[in-house]
Amino acid sequence: MNAQAPKGTADMLPDVARAWEHLQRVAQELFARYGYEPVYTPLFEHTEVFTRGIGEATDIVSKEMYTFEDKAGRSITLRPEGTASVVRSALEHNLTANGAQAKLYYAGPMFRYERPQKGRMRQFWQIGIEVLGAAEPTADAEVIAVLWRYFEALGIPAENMRLLLNSMGDESCRPAYRDSIAAYIRDHAVGLCEECNRRADTNPLRAFDCKNPACREVMGEAPLLRDELCGACATHYAEVKAHLDALGIPYVEDPSLVRGLDYYTRTVFEIQVDAGLGSQNAIGGGGRYDRLMEAYGGPATPGLGFALGFERTLLAMQAAGVEVPAPPRAEVFVARVDDAVTAEVFALAQRLRDAGIAAELDHQGRSLKSQFKQADRLGARFVLVVGPDELTDGQVTMRDMSTKEEKRVALGSAPAEVAAALG
Ligand code: AMP
Repeated sequence: MNAQAPKGTADMLPDVARAWEHLQRVAQELFARYGYEPVYTPLFEHTEVFTRGIGEATDIVSKEMYTFEDKAGRSITLRPEGTASVVRSALEHNLTANGAQAKLYYAGPMFRYERPQKGRMRQFWQIGIEVLGAAEPTADAEVIAVLWRYFEALGIPAENMRLLLNSMGDESCRPAYRDSIAAYIRDHAVGLCEECNRRADTNPLRAFDCKNPACREVMGEAPLLRDELCGACATHYAEVKAHLDALGIPYVEDPSLVRGLDYYTRTVFEIQVDAGLGSQNAIGGGGRYDRLMEAYGGPATPGLGFALGFERTLLAMQAAGVEVPAPPRAEVFVARVDDAVTAEVFALAQRLRDAGIAAELDHQGRSLKSQFKQADRLGARFVLVVGPDELTDGQVTMRDMSTKEEKRVALGSAPAEVAAALG
C-alpha cells in the first residue's frame, strides 16, 4: 500500500490542525459581530451548480474540477469553491424570499485539480462569507472590511497587506467592453500567447490574468473597463471607495483585476501578501455576483462575498512571526509510583478532568522517572504523585514543576488544590 497522501493534499497534523481551528475561532467571533451566521453545505454538488455558476470557460470549470459519475449515473463534482453552493442552498431553502437578506459564513475544504506548489493545493481549506439580497455599496465595503479586519485580527500587519480593488461592470456595460477586449486580442494576436488568443473567443477578460510577461505588456495597453463603466456601475464603485475611505481601509485600484470566475459583477477585490508567499500571493478575495441566483433559475438577487485560503493565510502569519496560541496538553500529570495504585491514578485523573482541568496520565507502564519526563514534555505545571505510602494516609504528593516544591494534599481535595494553584 502507498502510505502517502495523494498529490496536492496534506495531512493536517496537530500543529496545523490547531492553526485551522484558531482561524475558525477568530472567524466565528469576528463574523458574528457583523451579523453573519454559519452554514454547512455538502462537499459535493450536482456538476451543473458549478458549470452554470462559475462558467464553462473558466479555468476552474474547464480544467480543475473533480467530476465523476455516481453509481446512479449522476454527474457529481467536489466543490471547487463555496459561493456557488451557498447560493444554490439559499435558493433551495428560500433564504432570500420576499427581499430578505441572508448573511452567511462557511469554512471547509475545497478541491481543484491544479498543479501543486507552495500555497496551491488540490485539497485546500477556505473560510468565506456571503451576503445575499444586499445591493447597496455599504455591503461591499462591509464585506471588504470584514476580510481586512480578519487578517488584522490574526496578527498580519496592515503594512504586509495590499488590498486591490476594481469594478467589473454589469450586464449593461461589460458585454461591449468584453467585445472590445476580444477585438484588442485579435488585433494583437502575434504578441500574445496561444492561450490568450484562444481567450478572445471564450473568456477575453482572463487575458489580463496571464502570467506571461509578453502578454502582460500587451494587456497593459488594453482599454480599461474603469473608463467604460455605465453610470450606475461608476456611481456604485465610487460609493464603495468612499465607504472604504471613511473606514480608513487602504486600497489600491487595479483596473486589471478580473478574478477567475464568470459570476462577478461590479466590485471585485483581492488581498495580497508578498512576505512568505511566492507567486501564489493572494490570500483572500471576492466580489459581487448580482446575477448568480438568476443563473440557477431563481429570482434576481444581488449578492457578494469573499473567500480566503487557510494555507496561504498561515504562510502569511508565519512570515509575520505570528504564533498560534497552543494550550498545554496537560496542566497536571498524575503519576503512579507502581502498578498497585493504577486504579486510584486513573480515577483521580478523571476527577481532575471532570473539574475542568487538563490532566494526563501514563498508559504505557513507564517508570516514575519517565512519567516525569512525559509531564515536562506535555507542559504540565503540576504532577500529582500517587504512591502506596501516601495513599494509606489518604494523600498524594503535589509537585510544582517550575519551583520543584512538593507538598502533601488530601486525595479528596486534590482537584480543588490544583484548580486553586492554577488560578
Ligand atoms: P478563489 O476562490 O480562487 O478566489 O480563491 C480564494 C482564496 O482561496 C485564495 O486567495 C487562496 O487563498 C485560496 N486558494 C484558492 N485556490 C487555492 C489552492 N489551489 N490552494 C490553496 N489555496 C487556494
